[in-house]
Amino acid sequence: MITLKNSDAIKKMREGGQRLATVFDRIAPFVKPGISSLALDEMIEKQLQDLELKAEAKGYHGYKHVSCISFNDEVVHGIPAAHKIIQLGDLIKVDICVSWHGYCVDMARSFAVGVLSEKIQHFVHVAKESLDAGIAAAQVGACLSDISATIQQVVEQHRYGIVRNFAGHGIGVEMHEEPEIPNFGKFGKGPVLKAGMTLAIEPMITVGDYRVYIATDGWTVKTRDKSWAAHVEDTVLITNEGPEILTRPTGVRV
Ligand code: MG
Repeated sequence: MITLKNSDAIKKMREGGQRLATVFDRIAPFVKPGISSLALDEMIEKQLQDLELKAEAKGYHGYKHVSCISFNDEVVHGIPAAHKIIQLGDLIKVDICVSWHGYCVDMARSFAVGVLSEKIQHFVHVAKESLDAGIAAAQVGACLSDISATIQQVVEQHRYGIVRNFAGHGIGVEMHEEPEIPNFGKFGKGPVLKAGMTLAIEPMITVGDYRVYIATDGWTVKTRDKSWAAHVEDTVLITNEGPEILTRPTGVRV
């Protein structure tokens, strides 16, 4: 069942979203050469404490960290580690899910470390463009798969791969709620979108083939062909006035 959030839930998710966006603003300058992904995760944990946010990842199926930090050909669910040192030229994906007074918000960004090649810059730009287009499709009266099809269209127009095995999701009291939001599909399918639905929309795209596998650590999702991947995510509230992005500064719309 897809839950529609009442005004109290929306208020909490809005506040949580603003706080999580603040965490990303604060840690962005530290995604730089020489820092390990474990040190970055510890920095994120301090910021979550400072902003009174509860990390939803920590303890999830035994996961020990507050964030997922994925390098280059890692798509999502990279485990922070002391031996994984960020280097110039890396493409780092940081994914954080938190709750604020019992309501979750989920957000991810891709960080270019230094100046990346024009191809990778364009690739990251397309990831953001597909997220924005997917969000713009999240209108009252549209179908869920309109989000999916829109994302796929933007990504494939540029001949990049769109990952099939992982999807966006509804979000609220739980980190993962119904519906599942694939990043590919046909227009006009699935439930009709209603005001009060809250969705975590998260395209995962690849420079090459879209097929992925789970590494031996049991978590990290990597591309099969070792091509690089980008991941961006926002939590969105569907309103009669259009999609409201809870994890970007208030008033920012697509
Ligand atoms: Mg996430």
